[in-house]
Amino acid sequence: MARAHRNPNTSARPFRMAPDSGGARPSPLLPLPALALEALSLIEGAHGEAWCVGGCVRDALIDRPVHDVDIATSLPWTAVQRVFAAAGWGTVETGTAHGTLTVVKDGEPFEITTYRCDGAYSDGRHPDAITIASSIEEDLQRRDFTVNALAYHPERGLIDPYGGATDLERGVIRCVGDPSTRFTEDALRILRACRFASQLGFAIDGPTFNAMMASKHLLRKISGERVYRELERFVCGDYVHDALMGCVDVLAFVLPELVSMKGCEQVTKYHIYDVLEHTAWVVQHTPPEPLQRWSALFHDMGKPAAAFFEEREGERVEHFYGHAAVSVTLAEGIMRRLPFPAWLRRDVPVIVRVHDDVVPPEPRAVRRALNRLGGRTDLFEALCDIKRADALSQAPFCAPRADTAEELRRIMREIVAEGDAFTVKQLAINGNDIMGLGVKAGPAVGQLLEQCLGAVIDGTVPNEREALLAFADDRRT
Ligand code: ATP
Ligand code: MG
Repeated sequence: MARAHRNPNTSARPFRMAPDSGGARPSPLLPLPALALEALSLIEGAHGEAWCVGGCVRDALIDRPVHDVDIATSLPWTAVQRVFAAAGWGTVETGTAHGTLTVVKDGEPFEITTYRCDGAYSDGRHPDAITIASSIEEDLQRRDFTVNALAYHPERGLIDPYGGATDLERGVIRCVGDPSTRFTEDALRILRACRFASQLGFAIDGPTFNAMMASKHLLRKISGERVYRELERFVCGDYVHDALMGCVDVLAFVLPELVSMKGCEQVTKYHIYDVLEHTAWVVQHTPPEPLQRWSALFHDMGKPAAAFFEEREGERVEHFYGHAAVSVTLAEGIMRRLPFPAWLRRDVPVIVRVHDDVVPPEPRAVRRALNRLGGRTDLFEALCDIKRADALSQAPFCAPRADTAEELRRIMREIVAEGDAFTVKQLAINGNDIMGLGVKAGPAVGQLLEQCLGAVIDGTVPNEREALLAFADDRRT
């Protein structure tokens, strides 16, 4: 993903358009995939009307990569299916109950949805009924934010009834229509607003934000899966620092653990931020991958509970000994409450637990650390990412420790390239060899292998069969 970090203090976008005048108007030719334009032509060949809509138009207008193209059409899905099947495209009935058909060519899928308006929302999640809308303008009315209520056609131009292009330029997330009505209809939109703020680096418009605060309790109606999906996109956003600082009071409804981090000062010379802002910077400074981002969000969550003060030479100094273990407990609780995938439930606590352990930048210590991570070099890389980000998010004099984290990474890669052993499996001998020395099958075999590994890691015995057998023979009882 492109990681052009925009200065959060500027909202100017590299994109200019005439002020909103309603109706379609000429616009720059947007870089949408040729197959999407072919899909529009096919529909028009069958006397339908079709537009590219929503996120793809938004992203194309601000030069973000377009990852999926949605198409809105006047044709019913059954007609769309006929047209595309006749043209040799694949068709999949992904959501025909609400008028959506997915069409596929060359492995590229496009969602085509009949113009629709959504009826009443009595459950705060889904419309009770969907009716076919008569125009694209009516269809755009049901969409969540002005920047998502855009339709584009290469010849007819842009339809922008709510000033979405201006909001894109200003960098603002604003609801279509009355914000509190829109959040009462579908509370997921509250998290979508936070997520778009984090992905796009946009501010949330005042009335929209106020309605998010007033409606956040409605998030209890939203399934854990949908909450989790939005939160993950949020933490992986390019502008997550600003978004977390701005949205923390909204997110607190689904992540109440954030509340005690806010305003939790760190009275030590190593820190210039409270726990929340330090965390927001650490998340920002890690690569936008779920393992690193979630680990970063959780790494210091235990600090508010672990904090204590000490008088030292007449000065009060704060300590957070043991905070990593508390962070692990909190992280595990969150990952049980929300449907995190099994691999994150397994790996995130490992990173959080060791994030603060000191690993001196020398091969022996790195081999030991790799061993403590079960030989997982990917976890060691993630740990380096967190250590680097942590160093960059403390008092300025701590920043050089980011270089230490990079040095750890370099040493680790060298260890791997050299084929150094850091797990028992990599030893030149195995359990059978130990038993060949007369050791009975049982825990003693593993213990001797561990001792061999310790000696190899320390460099006192080479990882060679004869040397290891002699070493083990010496130590067996
Ligand atoms: P991205 O694909 O980058 O996540 P997107 O804006 O395309 O962002 P999608 O979930 O793909 O988001 O939805 C496509 C479009 O459908 C949106 O741009 C918006 O117009 C509309 N939309 C999606 N979810 C909602 C919702 N909960 N309420 C109203 N409109 C929505
Ligand atoms: Mg999309």
